[in-house]
Amino acid sequence: MIEKKNFYINGSWVSPKNPKDIKVVNPATEKDCAVISLGGKEDINDAVLAAKEAFKTWGFSSKEERLSLLENFYALYKKRWNDITDAIVQEMGAPKDFASKLQTGTGASHTKSFIRYLKEFEFEKPLGEHAKNQRLIYEPKGVCALITPWNWPINQVTLKVIPALASGCTMILKPSELAPLSAIIIAELIDEAKFPKGVFNLVNGDGATTGDALTSHPDVNMISFTGSTRAGALISQNAAKDFKRVSLELGGKGANIIFKDADAEAIERGAFRCFRNSGQSCNAPTRMLVERPIYDEAIERLKKYASEFKVDDPSKEGEHIGPVISDVQFNKIQGLIQKGIDEGAKLVAGGPGKPEGLKDGYYVKPTVFADVNNNMEIARTEIFGPVLSVIPFETEEEAIQIANDTDYGLTNYIQTQDTEKVQRVARKLRSGMVDVNGAGIAVDAPFGGFKHSGIGREAGKEGLLEFLEVKSVGGWN
Ligand code: NAD
Repeated sequence: MIEKKNFYINGSWVSPKNPKDIKVVNPATEKDCAVISLGGKEDINDAVLAAKEAFKTWGFSSKEERLSLLENFYALYKKRWNDITDAIVQEMGAPKDFASKLQTGTGASHTKSFIRYLKEFEFEKPLGEHAKNQRLIYEPKGVCALITPWNWPINQVTLKVIPALASGCTMILKPSELAPLSAIIIAELIDEAKFPKGVFNLVNGDGATTGDALTSHPDVNMISFTGSTRAGALISQNAAKDFKRVSLELGGKGANIIFKDADAEAIERGAFRCFRNSGQSCNAPTRMLVERPIYDEAIERLKKYASEFKVDDPSKEGEHIGPVISDVQFNKIQGLIQKGIDEGAKLVAGGPGKPEGLKDGYYVKPTVFADVNNNMEIARTEIFGPVLSVIPFETEEEAIQIANDTDYGLTNYIQTQDTEKVQRVARKLRSGMVDVNGAGIAVDAPFGGFKHSGIGREAGKEGLLEFLEVKSVGGWN
């Protein structure tokens, strides 16, 4: 069993002040695969103090120094690619090929992209041609608390740690206690890349104790959090007391509007995007809105597609989905599938229980509900499992109304060949992202949501700006 009980504080791996061990469970086997420790208030105090001290110099480091260290990190990341992938396979059950290409892959793409934006970024510039003595100075926000979830563990860590490093912030990362192993490798790489001590610190732990101690610490200047809406609200309350800057990336309940002139692959592509990563993506298109004339055909196709969709052991190569993260999530999803049946939605594929032949592991059947009404719980709650709700619509206005009738506003999807319709609908959807005809959202496009889906944007230039304060100086000559 892997033993990773220490925390990375002030440039060294140190033992917890009051050891409190927990096991990391491999969701594919339900067996323990590692042991970590949960940090307490004293560990957090040490880490925040280290970050505060380091900020005194790192906050004024040159762009060239930061670039050179980030280039070191990027080179080392590529060398440890397989280790990162193996950690992700074990800790959250993402299948090997998917974990390598997409989970580990996005960490590399974000790092590369932030290096590019850092190279281009002007930390000081005049307000404009009309006011040359007015200087804008972009400065790091200070000590940052970075709290990440388990579903895209390295994607989320790199979306926070890399721009924080690039901007000159110092930080304490608290990865998810359910999937901490890949984040520990990131700490090892930062150490190996030779970032100054105290710039990056890692304390493992849970939300209620470690996360709370971190987000309520008076010397933390900014919190960047990805996870549930519930935790996002609690964190915001902690932040409000002393006006910490807050960036939140929360849940979603994306609508995928399939018009009758959608391309031939739109239906299956939509189901694939819903089931991918076992449905554990905040931007998954979990509500499929289908225009009435193609509705019956769509249901038939979804029934076939979902029934044949492969669920299997994540340690195997190939295109399949693995288990969901934990018994808690498994039971929550099972409860919601039952709720869908009880509410009168029509179960056309999947349903309660585990897929055939997969007794151990938190595996869920790819499930499709037809005739869903947008007021049903399965249409309103973020299920975070491979469960698709299909809702018919008659008109463009009705599709927009249903898509926007949710607390969330992260990613919506449009499928049509009519370019004017695309632009009309995209403008009316209340979400931070709109993905048209499977084009995808670029790795450096602003990622974030409207409404309960969060505050702020990650990735690319916007993601860098999240970690910077702007100062105006008048009379600069
Ligand atoms: P969570 O929000 O409880 O956990 C995410 C991270 O926040 C973890 O590191 C956790 O330790 C920490 N955390 C939890 N409570 C905290 C608190 N009060 N203060 C500080 N940190 C805290 O998410 P979860 O329990 O792992 O998953 C529950 C639901 O959250 C899922 O079903 C899903 O709907 C949603 N979720 C969304 C995303 C996303 O990417 N938007 C990611 C994970 C989970």
